[in-house]
Amino acid sequence: MKKHRFLFSLISKGQVIVCFVTCLLVVASSIGLDLAYAKESSIDERYDFTVVVDAGHGGIDPGSIGYKTKVKESEINLAVAKILEQKLKKLGVRVVMTRPDENGLYGLSTTNYKKRDMQKRRDIIEKIRPDIVVSVHMNSYIRHNLRGAQVFYDNTSPISEKLALCIQNQFAERLEKSTKGVSVGDYYMLKCTESASVIAECGFLSNEEDEKLLITKDYQEKIADCIFVGIVNYLNLEQ
Ligand SMILES: [Zn+2]
Repeated sequence: MKKHRFLFSLISKGQVIVCFVTCLLVVASSIGLDLAYAKESSIDERYDFTVVVDAGHGGIDPGSIGYKTKVKESEINLAVAKILEQKLKKLGVRVVMTRPDENGLYGLSTTNYKKRDMQKRRDIIEKIRPDIVVSVHMNSYIRHNLRGAQVFYDNTSPISEKLALCIQNQFAERLEKSTKGVSVGDYYMLKCTESASVIAECGFLSNEEDEKLLITKDYQEKIADCIFVGIVNYLNLEQ
């Protein structure tokens, strides 16, 4: 009996030690996980917001063409979109780019490419269900005198109007030329989501002065910053 009790107490002690070590490992690993998560979230997800940045056109679709330099709109759209992406990520907002490189979203076949390209953008937005969608474009018009940046929204969406105003205010304050008010637009990209969604037409490639500015890194940075600050103000974030 005594022997059994001794054996039992030995097993108990053994079990206690195993238990203790296991608990230590569990606690240590969970602390490790928590720290890893905290690190991850402080860098990538300081704010629980998702912004889809949509660089217009791409691939065989260049969009507008520069009046003097023949620059492709698709290239400037992507440059501005990438700067905006970095600014938002640095702040701690989740960003999804519909088009991360120079390629369009229509796949290999070019038949009906525009329709498939737009549907793919809509699919991405529907899947992500973001808080904000910003499509970046450069404008063009048959008359060469028109200049400035202009934000479009769908007038059935009050949140889109609010976002448009926040971005347009930055354009009006900080760019040499920009339209004073926001504009109502009947565009596919604005109608395909419940999110606050705007199209930022950042200047006219059909205007010589705008084109000269739009091809420079400094001006692309300035435009991206206007959109960025507009988003920050809309979401009431601290920079
Ligand atoms: Zn465009």
